[in-house]
Amino acid sequence: MSQTNYLWNPAPVYSLPVRDSEARMPVKRIFCVGRNYHAHAVEMGRPVDKSSMSPFYFLKDASALVESGATVPYPAGTDNYHFEMELVVAIGKAGFRVDEKDADGMVFGYAAGLDMTRRDLQLVAREQGRPWDLGKNFEKSAVCTEIVPAAGLGVLESGAINLQVDGETKQTSDLSMLIWNIREIIADLSSFYHLEPGDLIYTGTPEGVGAVKPGNRITGHIDGVADVALTIGQPE
Ligand code: MN
Repeated sequence: MSQTNYLWNPAPVYSLPVRDSEARMPVKRIFCVGRNYHAHAVEMGRPVDKSSMSPFYFLKDASALVESGATVPYPAGTDNYHFEMELVVAIGKAGFRVDEKDADGMVFGYAAGLDMTRRDLQLVAREQGRPWDLGKNFEKSAVCTEIVPAAGLGVLESGAINLQVDGETKQTSDLSMLIWNIREIIADLSSFYHLEPGDLIYTGTPEGVGAVKPGNRITGHIDGVADVALTIGQPE
């Protein structure tokens, strides 16, 4: 009996609670859709024409995951730390080149998430044609609630999505406003990646994104899914 000897402890299994379950969902990859609500694409100065454009993606490491309710330090390297309220889709089956009509069966559940963003660094990267990692993929930048099993719900088509900072509403929209809906995203994303159980898809944010400061408390809601919360702590 030999056991692998590692120099140090291997990375932990990152996971999220599942509503009404003792079991947690192990998280594999975190995909994020860019510009998936028209009014947000416009506020970012990059309107989307669905007839001639495809969705695009960036990823966050699973280690960037933080559970709803946490307090996170104001991150390093930014003066413009933004919230983005998003519906998160949790994949429960393996799938490659999935047809839109089969997308329902890929969904294990949903969650409410925050795609926290160092906007100043993201925009510098965007303007200079560099990767978005510094702006998007940083520690504690992927906030997520418990996973709500889809069981019987199928694919969400509509529902209010909103976000408040210290009780003041900043974002308000509806899932029906998604440019590429959940079925279309699963079909498109699975044409580039073999989706696997535990993959998360942050489906994009509506308009009204903005900056937060230490001491702010973010709350967000998606009808029929969950409520997310995050408190911004002092810089490290
Ligand atoms: Mn986003």
